[in-house]
Amino acid sequence: MSEHTVVPQPASPPSAGSPATDGQEPLVKTTNLVKIYEDKDQVPVKALNGVDFQVAPGEFTAIAGPSGSGKTTLLNLIGGLDKPTSGTVVVAGQDLGALSRNALATFRLHNLGFIFQAYNLIPVLTAEENAEFNLLLQGVPPKERHERVLQEFEDLGISSELIHRRPNKLSGGQQQRVAVARALVSRPKLILADEPTANLDSKTGARLLDKMRDLNERTGITFLFSTHDPMVMERARRLVILRDGLITEDEVRG
Ligand code: ADP
Ligand code: MG
Repeated sequence: MSEHTVVPQPASPPSAGSPATDGQEPLVKTTNLVKIYEDKDQVPVKALNGVDFQVAPGEFTAIAGPSGSGKTTLLNLIGGLDKPTSGTVVVAGQDLGALSRNALATFRLHNLGFIFQAYNLIPVLTAEENAEFNLLLQGVPPKERHERVLQEFEDLGISSELIHRRPNKLSGGQQQRVAVARALVSRPKLILADEPTANLDSKTGARLLDKMRDLNERTGITFLFSTHDPMVMERARRLVILRDGLITEDEVRG
């Protein structure tokens, strides 16, 4: 595969708006998605069993299901962090399987934000440096980076005295909010969050979810997150249940 493919731009910008409505161009579309891993003894493990799944622009959707049901695998494939065994993933009109590694990295940088269970902040960078990382890669000038990060921190309730701290001097909740700021500040079309509240106490987790939902409503950024936390499921506007690598329930609450 060529490493120098020109990055195709998304076909049409999604309109911000209502969740899961019919007839809208989906922001995410997976077709017959299969992922088979091999375990240590090279025994195949079928993590996804042919998943057909769509997300409309503006949704705030949770994928729930027991441990091992395939949630992380599905998010990783939608985020282009891993390749399916078979089937396709289309995000913002782009078939991810058609992109070279480099083109995929560029596509992710301009379209996606990631929030992980373990925050994944870079330990040697300050809160501000972590949050501005994608803007730096995008070539945004320093002054603009600084202003945008400060604004994001303010919106997320991250106090200005924390901006020069390294992650090990921040609480779990503060680290996760910095990770959310990092994902949001470049205004991606889609934010993928893998169990974003897993390492937070329930009050901090609930506050973070309310913040994310508020941002979703204000900015129209689409959120797709995995969880097995009932508090998170309660706050989702659409709840998809995954079992043994297949969607078994899909409920829109409006
Ligand atoms: P969840 O996030 O819902 O807990 P995962 O997507 O992590 O589920 O895992 C789905 C299945 O795939 C599980 O059986 C898991 O053990 C297996 N699996 C996940 N990642 C790997 C891997 N890198 N190598 C082998 N098996 C894996
Ligand atoms: Mg997982």
